[in-house]
Amino acid sequence: MKKVFGLIIFIVALSLISCSGGGGGGESPPSYSVQDWQNLYDYNAYATDGYTTRWPGTVITHNVHPEYFQRWESSTGGRVQFQFVSHQPSDGISVSLAPDLNTAGTTKWWVLKTSGHIVKAEIYINPDYWNPTDGPHVLTHEAGHALGFNGHTNDGCLMDPSIQSEDCISDAVARIMTHLYSYPPHTDVAANISQETIEQSLMIKRDDGSLLIKTPGGDYYVKEVDEDTLLFSNGPFYNGRVEPLPELQP
Ligand SMILES: [Zn+2]
Repeated sequence: MKKVFGLIIFIVALSLISCSGGGGGGESPPSYSVQDWQNLYDYNAYATDGYTTRWPGTVITHNVHPEYFQRWESSTGGRVQFQFVSHQPSDGISVSLAPDLNTAGTTKWWVLKTSGHIVKAEIYINPDYWNPTDGPHVLTHEAGHALGFNGHTNDGCLMDPSIQSEDCISDAVARIMTHLYSYPPHTDVAANISQETIEQSLMIKRDDGSLLIKTPGGDYYVKEVDEDTLLFSNGPFYNGRVEPLPELQP
């Protein structure tokens, strides 16, 4: 009898583990170490009081080169999922050419404070980089920000700040994004790491009312849109001209 009881506890424990997912489907989450939770904190939850921000479900995206978005789907074991539409979505990720941009690309994304939901993102690509050599790299990089990867890496792959790095999604970045999308939005990351490793972020007030946030994972910008909504960007907020993104021509 004792043995059976032990087995029941084991099964209950197993089903609890498999329910803790809440991501966009796919396999059950790998087990995450304190270091993993620290990475998730540094690259996602830092500016939102230690709670994650992510898309709540399938991400709607403009149907221009879906293969560069799908790289995030495959690198997260299907936890990030896209629906491609023929127009620029108002509540998904839109992609445009940005002739006034002075970097290769930039992204703005809107986050609801209380739910941690990313509700909208706009990717801007500099026309000088919209060519078959640089375009795929820039679009996949910016899509990473639009999915909630805040800051930059230094691992030689495409979430590095420089276009000179290789066009690869590193294992470390894939692990952070798989982790992020294995738990629901607004997951308490700070509760899973030591208080000593939560450093005070350095916030610099800018003239336009935004904050430049300097974090262990790199810098990004945040401003309050209204009392419920925060706007993020991986660079200064782009407000210049936009044009439709054409197909890449070899
Ligand atoms: Zn970036």
